[in-house]
Amino acid sequence: MTTILLLSADTGGGHQAAAQAIACELRGQGFLPEQIVIVDTFNRCRRWPFYRLGAVHRWAVSTRPGRLLHTLMFWWDQEPRSRGLADAFCHWGMAPLFAELEQLYPQAVWVTLHPFITQAVGRWKLRTSPSLRMATVVTELAFAPWACFHPAADLCCVANQQVAQQALRVGVAPHKLRVTGLPLKPGFSQPPPCAMACRQKLGLARQTPTILLISGGEGFAGSIVDLCRELDQRLASKAQLLVVTGYNADLRRQLEQQTWRGSVSIRGFVENMETCIGAADLVLTKSGPGTLSEVLAVGRPMILFAHLPGPERRNVDYLVSQGAALFLPRQADLARGVLELVADPPRLDAMRRCAQLLSESGSAARVGAGIRELAT
Ligand code: UDP
Repeated sequence: MTTILLLSADTGGGHQAAAQAIACELRGQGFLPEQIVIVDTFNRCRRWPFYRLGAVHRWAVSTRPGRLLHTLMFWWDQEPRSRGLADAFCHWGMAPLFAELEQLYPQAVWVTLHPFITQAVGRWKLRTSPSLRMATVVTELAFAPWACFHPAADLCCVANQQVAQQALRVGVAPHKLRVTGLPLKPGFSQPPPCAMACRQKLGLARQTPTILLISGGEGFAGSIVDLCRELDQRLASKAQLLVVTGYNADLRRQLEQQTWRGSVSIRGFVENMETCIGAADLVLTKSGPGTLSEVLAVGRPMILFAHLPGPERRNVDYLVSQGAALFLPRQADLARGVLELVADPPRLDAMRRCAQLLSESGSAARVGAGIRELAT
């Protein structure tokens, strides 16, 4: 029996969301639940610092010195000599886990969802296990770092033609490359939902224009709490605000302690992101590829207010140049931008149409089909 190992990571929510989307899709395609294993790769490593990478990532995206580290890592990726060293280190850190996985699941297809894991598995395949079947799912939207690709992979799934061109430039063989879109959870494969029905499901006022703020907020020149207060003051009677704080429990607590003038609904980590996005007329978010792809799939206009150094910066350029988003990293501009857009429905409509043009429906099914072919 072939097992599908989805080698994911808890560095941000995007890799995990993609792994879950692929797992759902494979179950839908007839794989048994026991054939699909999501591996929390870094947390299962026993070698330092790999089992700490989740915490390092959280530090790296939320503090100034951490962001410097993030920038350095991106620089590492661009430099061939430093790349070799770092990849050897990743392989050293993960090799004992790979040996264990090969023993547990001898007939497996290995699907990598994170650049460090892609490099480590590629090296493992070349050096130790040449018959291993390997697929790579690149979870980037507009630009993928070099480390997302490995020549040893038998299949490489990318979000769009732009990333496919990068893959070809770094030597991925054309016959291994598939433009699939980023795999999104099943809720996103339905036609765009009706905003009023989504608001009702969420217990929000059906008829009131709705702004969704998906926090994150790293690199945003302002505080999310202050921004919400300002939007609340200015929007009070014109729109309602739905705030999703995700993994950020501190932010949720701070927001819940505020007194609001208008309607502000605070949610922590939500499992029904498609309904939250569907309820919105306008989405405010940082520039993570997973969230952006989900907002495009639902077809909602966006204001981006932050990005991490590296690929997220390119996501901003991509969406702004395509007319689907505005980039307003300063709190004062952001609040003003929201008010102007809410007061300008034709402009919101034009942005919504641009977002719909960029959406990739059926992406998880295409990724699932590729993995299935490798498995048979
Ligand atoms: N997410 C979620 N519930 C939340 C907050 C986030 O399901 O409350 C998901 C979101 O829908 C997306 C992922 O987490 O699929 C975040 O991925 P992204 O690539 O945008 O950012 P990352 O966290 O990887 O930097």
